[in-house]
Amino acid sequence: MTDLDLGAFVRDVPDFPKPGILFKDITPMLADPRALSASVERLAAPYRGAGVTKVAGIESRGFVFGVPVAERLGVGFVPVRKAGKLPHTTLSHSYALEYGEGVVEIHDDAAGPGDRVLIVDDLLATGGTAEAAVALVKRLGAEVVGVAFVIELDFLEGRNRLDGIPVTSLLHY
Ligand code: AMP
Repeated sequence: MTDLDLGAFVRDVPDFPKPGILFKDITPMLADPRALSASVERLAAPYRGAGVTKVAGIESRGFVFGVPVAERLGVGFVPVRKAGKLPHTTLSHSYALEYGEGVVEIHDDAAGPGDRVLIVDDLLATGGTAEAAVALVKRLGAEVVGVAFVIELDFLEGRNRLDGIPVTSLLHY
């Protein structure tokens, strides 16, 4: 499993969800038991022993990877969701996507001072979504230990928007 090529489990879908976007579909990675296990393990590995107290996953593919990463690190999971989805009182942050604009929210009691939070999402594009999640976690008074992605689109230089925060990605395009 250690030398499994996870890139073989990413499907390129041209012009989705709109013309000009090459969508990186990770559903083949989820569907294969070895690739699923390897991807979760590789996301968690850099943060073992890093004192992570919570994993925050970004809706919705960040939930799929974030929950098993949290379980492997022996910590709890908190969701970062699109506007209007979380039932309790929230903090909000606006952000720009590779395709469109949006708002993300977090419960105001999801983390706090003393928490060391690892943020997880499937893909880093322009970095707007991750930057918004970082801002929310920091506004709760918690520390961001790192941001872990399955895929990073290097040419969009999204990591520049996460200055000073460790960014780890399993695959680079
Ligand atoms: P960004 O805020 O530009 O970094 O966009 C990241 C978010 O949009 C992630 O939650 C991804 O799931 C999604 N996303 C952006 N671009 C793509 C792409 N080319 N393929 C798949 N997902 C994408």
